[in-house]
Amino acid sequence: MPSHPTFDLAVVGAGIVGLGCALAAARLGKRVVVIDRDATANGASVRNFGFITVTGQEAGDMWRRARRSREIWAAVADEAGIAIGHRGLLLSVRRPRSIAVLEAFLRTPMGAQCRLLDAADLRTRQPALATGGGLGALWSPHELRVESREAIPRLAAWLESRHGVRFLRETAVLGVETARVVTARGDVHADAVAVCPGDDLASLFPDRIAAYGLTRCKLQMLRLADPGFRLTAGVMSDLGLTRYAGYAALPEAHGLRAQLEREQPDHLAHGVHLIVVQSADGSLVVGDSHHYAATPDPFASEAVDRLILDEFEAVFGAAAPPVLERWTGTYASARDRTVVIDAPAPGVRLVMVTTGAGASTGFALGEEVVAQLFGGDGS
Ligand SMILES: Cc1cc2nc3c(=O)[nH]c(=O)nc-3n(C[C@H](O)[C@H](O)[C@H](O)COP(=O)(O)OP(=O)(O)OC[C@H]3O[C@@H](n4cnc5c(N)ncnc54)[C@H](O)[C@@H]3O)c2cc1C
Repeated sequence: MPSHPTFDLAVVGAGIVGLGCALAAARLGKRVVVIDRDATANGASVRNFGFITVTGQEAGDMWRRARRSREIWAAVADEAGIAIGHRGLLLSVRRPRSIAVLEAFLRTPMGAQCRLLDAADLRTRQPALATGGGLGALWSPHELRVESREAIPRLAAWLESRHGVRFLRETAVLGVETARVVTARGDVHADAVAVCPGDDLASLFPDRIAAYGLTRCKLQMLRLADPGFRLTAGVMSDLGLTRYAGYAALPEAHGLRAQLEREQPDHLAHGVHLIVVQSADGSLVVGDSHHYAATPDPFASEAVDRLILDEFEAVFGAAAPPVLERWTGTYASARDRTVVIDAPAPGVRLVMVTTGAGASTGFALGEEVVAQLFGGDGS
C-alpha cells in the first residue's frame, strides 16, 4: 500500500476495544487507521447484549473502567446518533440469601446510588415482573443499553466522518512490529500500534498470548418476540450474583452459591445466568451460557437454551415468547485477569478483554493504552 500515509496509530481490530483505542487517539488529534480482516463487524462486539454494566463489575480497575466507559458511551451515543434503549439494572431475586448478598453489596462503595427494592417497589417499577417470584431487587441507575449490531457500525462511521479515522476493511494483518503493520494488502506504517484481536489467540503474538494461559468462552444467545411489555431497565436474576465478581467476591455470596448448586445445578454447570434487555422493536435479547475451550464448537444446544428460558420464565412468571433468533458468540477468557495489556515490542500494545465485559470497559481501556503509547513512555 505505497500510497498510504504514515499514521500516528494503527489499530488492528475494529471491535469495541479497537474502536476505543481509535477514539482515544483521535481525541488527542492523532492520525489513526483501523485495520480489520472482516468486511463488517462480526465479532463479540456485535453479538453481545449491548449492556454497558457498571454495577457488579469486579471492585478496583474493572469498576473504575466501567464507570469511565459508561461516561464515554453516554457522550458518544449522543454525538454519533446511537440510541440508548434503556437505562439501569433491575437485579430481581427470589431467595432470602440473595437479598443478603444485595444488602452486603449496598454497604460497599460500589453500592453508591443503588438501592434495594422490596417486592411491592419492584412490581411498581417494572410491572412485567409482577407475576415472577421476586422477593425484591437491586436497582442500579448506572447501566446503559445499546443495540450493538447497529451501534458498532455507527460508531465506526462516526469515527471516520467526525474524527477522520481511516478504516481498512477486508485486510488481514499478518504481522506487527515497531512502526510497521504487515497486511495481506501491503504494509501500513504508524508510530504506534494497538493490536486488539478479540479472541483470536493464534494469529498475532501467539507466544505472548500463550503466556497468559488464555482460552475462549462460547455463549448462547436468543432473541424473543415482543412480549407486549416494555422494560424500563436491563433485568438479571439470582444467578448473576454468582457470576459477576462485584457480588460473587462478597462473603455472603458463598452460601448463595451452595444453595444454587443444590437448586439449579444444571444452570451452574453450563454457566447459565440471565440477562434480559429490550430492543427498539420490543423484542428481547436474552442469554446466556458459558462453555470454555480453545476452539469452542459452533453448535447451540437446545438443552442449554431451555435452561436460559426456564430462568426467564421463573423471573417473569410467564411463558417465554417465541424465539426469533439464536446465535453464539465467543470471547477471550483468563482465569486470573480481566484484561491483558502486553508490550510485545516498543510502541506496540496487545490489548484484550479476558472476561465478558468489553462493551462495558473498552472505551476506558482504549484511553489507558493510548496514554501508554503517547504519554512519553510508549516503550
Ligand atoms: C454473546 C456475548 C455477550 C456479551 N455481552 C456483553 C455485554 O452485554 N456487556 C459487555 O460489556 N460485554 C459483553 N460481552 C463481551 C464483549 O462483547 C467483548 O468483551 C468485546 O466485544 C470484545 O471486543 P474486542 O474488540 O476485543 O473483540 P471483537 O469484537 O471480537 O473484535 C476483534 C476484531 O479483531 C479482528 N481481528 C482479529 N485478528 C485480526 C487480524 N489478524 N487481522 C485483522 N483483523 C483481525 C476481528 O476480525 C474482529 O473484528 C459479550 C460477549 C459475547 C460473545
